[in-house]
Amino acid sequence: MSAVIPIATDTGCSNAPVLRERGQREVFCGLTGIVWLHRKIQDAFFLVVGSRTCAHLIQSAAGVMIFAEPRFATAIIDDRDLAGIANANEELDRIVTKLLSRRPDIKMLFLVGSCPSEVIKLDLATAAERLSRQFLPQVRVLNYSGSGIETTFTQGEDACLASLVPQLTAEDTDAAPGFQFARYLRAMGIERLSFFPPRSSRALPRLGKNTRYLLVQPFLAETARALEERGAQRIAAPFPFGVEGTTEWLRAAAQSFGLDAQRFEQVTMPARERATKALERQREWLQGRSIFFFPDSQLEVPLARFLSRELGMQLTEVGTPYLHRDHLQQELEMLPAGITLSEGQDVEKQLDRCRAHAPDIVVCGLGLANPLEADGITTKWSIELVFSPVHGYEQAADLAELFARPLRRRALLNKEQEATCS
Ligand code: SF4
Repeated sequence: MSAVIPIATDTGCSNAPVLRERGQREVFCGLTGIVWLHRKIQDAFFLVVGSRTCAHLIQSAAGVMIFAEPRFATAIIDDRDLAGIANANEELDRIVTKLLSRRPDIKMLFLVGSCPSEVIKLDLATAAERLSRQFLPQVRVLNYSGSGIETTFTQGEDACLASLVPQLTAEDTDAAPGFQFARYLRAMGIERLSFFPPRSSRALPRLGKNTRYLLVQPFLAETARALEERGAQRIAAPFPFGVEGTTEWLRAAAQSFGLDAQRFEQVTMPARERATKALERQREWLQGRSIFFFPDSQLEVPLARFLSRELGMQLTEVGTPYLHRDHLQQELEMLPAGITLSEGQDVEKQLDRCRAHAPDIVVCGLGLANPLEADGITTKWSIELVFSPVHGYEQAADLAELFARPLRRRALLNKEQEATCS
């Protein structure tokens, strides 16, 4: 039998007070999303309309990509552009024309707004329409904002996907989902399904009044809103992290379509048992260890649920940049009572709370990791949780390993230090 813990019947943290903070924050802007979005939509190109700072940010965040065909660039807004919007538009058209003539493989071009393009009020939506007209049907040009004024870390992906929703039509596509979830959903009896975004921008899923959708990531509030405006209905579910989250996510789909409960058990049980067994090794490292989440990716609440319920970790504070109560309802119900839930950030105050808790491990952005490590606190970079494959049964143990590894490394360091001192 699987050792999956059933969903609690009490309300967990769903009615717990939330500490709301609106002070100084330490988070990356939405441009960061380009680092993993280029892998999701494989014929898309991301042209950041920004400054040298923006170019440096994505180049260093995407350092691993130097071996891949470049899929992003920055059109630098310089002092001359500040003199006039007309010049900036002409310059943008020139850069896009040059780029598309050099790169016929680009089928979808995203103009990504930044703080500088926002400050000079460059209208990228109009620019995208103008360029789309010019380059259709070879290339679709869309726009979204990744600016630090408007977006944090994962909100760039949300804004990107929301900008794609108006492109969805009622026409059939041959979208072939190459995703582990497709196997289970099909085996359960759901035949007509698509994944959004698709790998090819030419295979956008169809959307209509009878479309139901399940969120795979908890940070897609704008995308969900755009889908619902087009008539799609969300299937409420926890997020598919860990054995329990994946099972309940799949169960929500099965129940929504009135599928046979026995078939659901048959389809999921072997994978549930395998994944539960695979988690045992990490449980040895994680059980009883305390963890503190700084707000960064919006993955914090589902991850906290997974780590506490399936691996026995002790939650101290679970911070998230934005708490979407509707999308997180089931997750909040499953969190243990008595923890601090916080939304937004006042970084100095939160650092004080973190130090007072002295947790075994802290999940935070890159900017906070170094000072915390220097204080002897073990950290996990939240960016890794976004661009590593961590969903579903097959990845449950890999997800746990991402938290166990820094603890093992710290234990090794401590041992080496003791050996040197003795
Ligand atoms: Fe910095 Fe804003 Fe550019 Fe992001 S968009 S790198 S926050 S200037």
